[in-house]
Amino acid sequence: MNHFEFHGGELCCEGVPLARIAQAVGTPVYVYSSATLERHYQVLRDALTGVGIADPLIAFAVKANPNVAVLRTLARQGAGADVVSEGEIRRALAAGVPADRIVFSGVGKTRGEIAFALQTGVAEINVESEPELELIDAVGRELGVRAAVAIRVNPDVEAGGHAKISTGKADNKFGVSLAEAGRLYARAANMAGVRAVGVACHIGSQITDLSPMRAAFAKMRSLVERLRGEGLSVERLDLGGGLGVPYFNQPEPPPPAEYAAMIAEVVKGLDVRLAFEPGRMVAANAGVLVAQVLHIHERPEGRRFLVIDAAMNDLIRPAMYDAYHDIRPLRPRLGEHVIYDVVGPVCETGDTFTRDRPLPPLKAADLLAFMTAGAYGSAMASEYNSRLLVPEVLVKGDEFAVVRPRPTYDDMLARERTAPWF
Ligand SMILES: *Cc1c(COP(=O)(O)O)cnc(C)c1O
Repeated sequence: MNHFEFHGGELCCEGVPLARIAQAVGTPVYVYSSATLERHYQVLRDALTGVGIADPLIAFAVKANPNVAVLRTLARQGAGADVVSEGEIRRALAAGVPADRIVFSGVGKTRGEIAFALQTGVAEINVESEPELELIDAVGRELGVRAAVAIRVNPDVEAGGHAKISTGKADNKFGVSLAEAGRLYARAANMAGVRAVGVACHIGSQITDLSPMRAAFAKMRSLVERLRGEGLSVERLDLGGGLGVPYFNQPEPPPPAEYAAMIAEVVKGLDVRLAFEPGRMVAANAGVLVAQVLHIHERPEGRRFLVIDAAMNDLIRPAMYDAYHDIRPLRPRLGEHVIYDVVGPVCETGDTFTRDRPLPPLKAADLLAFMTAGAYGSAMASEYNSRLLVPEVLVKGDEFAVVRPRPTYDDMLARERTAPWF
């Protein structure tokens, strides 16, 4: 459920008509709903505690939506943060996430980032390879601390809605094999600069079927038991994120309650602190991208292009993952649906949001919303074609605030310098 609904023929975010935001801030603009963010976090937490999982660490995957106001909204609910760079650690801290609820993941952490994480006192670093374990140990010894580490395991299962977001197969770059994990864990347990606290996995994104997750989590359970059998202490088990969300034309994801029940069953009797790293399921349906129709270009061959002022640089998911986004006019006109190809102004054929989409009839200057754009939307935006980064607005009840203003062209140009030979 989300808080984007029609009231009096107008698509609203909570108590605010989206058209009012478009008028005040201009388009394109991302709009996020506080109530939806809060609700998604609470639904997951309640599902987990409801099946007896005590005090789970729910670390929001910052990369899905790094806006500090979004993170603050979640932090106030008690969420932690799953981060993949120093920039994300800084964002989480700026949003008020306590360091002891921050989990540092990612395949290629630098020495500087590891040192920063340890000085900050993050809860845990998830280790993705043996050379990285050695580097963390070295940095830990230099700083005179023992870094809490979890070994990220690649359980070799197929999952995830798209090849580019599947991470749990043996041929992906993420984590170490189950076979290697034991040796690495034992090595970590004997290092002076680290403290082996647990194991972690994250098998992919936009997963709509629980069976690959169940298979992966069962393998993780066996691993914990095997390590303990060897006399090693394992306190934490991080099960990653990856639960899918409805994008309207895709298989419905399982409800959080079923996900939680499956986990309770798999970890029954295993005495560990569980951690989760949800991104998409918390943020995706809490955000929309609002755009305006520039014009309608009808080609004699029969295609009808709806040219809008948002482009692939603002929302890259359709171009990158063939993603489907529901498109809703903010004030739908009456009349038969019309078939449109919805495209942006960028000079790439890939700048096509959708082809052959039936929509209510539209005219130039009409406003529309791309639904389910709160995760991996603004986060992946760029200035390609020297288009300004899209502003972001957060709604709470009847109020809204611009939480990232649209930069000016002067801001954009001021970041660059001339070279001495000019
Ligand atoms: C991206 C990522 C997540 C979040 O994935 P979602 O599909 O958005 O839930 C969690 N953990 C790690 C390590 C990730 O890389």
